[in-house]
Amino acid sequence: MTQQELLESGMLLPVMEEFYSLQGEGYHTGEAAWFIRIGGCDVGCTWCDVKESWDADLFPPVETDKVVAKALKCPANAVVVTGGEPLLYNLDYLCEQLQVQNSATPQSSFSARGRFKVQEITPPQPSPEGEGVSPLQGVWGHHRTSNIVNRTSKIVTTFLETSGSQPLSGSWNWICLSPKRDWPPREEFYTISHELKVIIHEEEDFGWAEEQADRMNPHAHLFLQPEWSLREIMLPNIIRYIESNPAWKLSLQMHKYIGIP
Ligand code: SF4
Repeated sequence: MTQQELLESGMLLPVMEEFYSLQGEGYHTGEAAWFIRIGGCDVGCTWCDVKESWDADLFPPVETDKVVAKALKCPANAVVVTGGEPLLYNLDYLCEQLQVQNSATPQSSFSARGRFKVQEITPPQPSPEGEGVSPLQGVWGHHRTSNIVNRTSKIVTTFLETSGSQPLSGSWNWICLSPKRDWPPREEFYTISHELKVIIHEEEDFGWAEEQADRMNPHAHLFLQPEWSLREIMLPNIIRYIESNPAWKLSLQMHKYIGIP
């Protein structure tokens, strides 16, 4: 296959960085996870704090099998895929390979309150449209064979951080939707995401956040997060807003406060 074909199949990915840290934002703040940051984003938020991720050409494609092998060596079970906008790429193969060993052990899932638990494996059901397996129901059946050897028996849980601007690929235990006003999410993300995280950069963002929340599924957790460069201005406003609108919770970029990646 050509490099372009390997990229399109997801067997190569323009990985910007991989690291082990604690989740700093949203519902799973404080939990240990392996992070895979994929380069490339064309949403163009003016306040973006990872502008260096935008140009995917700066990150030579690497073999997805090698990315998976590193993740599987991590002591934590959680793998967070972020960007940039990771859904610019086909993430089916990455998730299949991260989760392939899960089918030999009890399947991991999240309870209604989001706490990690283990339950019996159940085969995935057809999606409501009858178009096969829902991306949230895990990988089942035949898998392409990777070059990875010595797989561990750990159960990997996959987390996606996305603006929702691109079609979904991959199989996810948790999706955090962080919508952007200049490029609203595709409709399906309101249904399938577990968490809505709206960045508050200016007062008008509160109204935008409510519009987004109105479209979310009723089980989603709602977070407001101050844009980092304006946090001292926006944080008091967000606190007051949440006190008046307690359906929302506060998300801080904890990792920046404590100086971890
Ligand atoms: S979607 Fe995320 S990575 Fe892309 S420009 Fe906006 S904040 Fe930056």
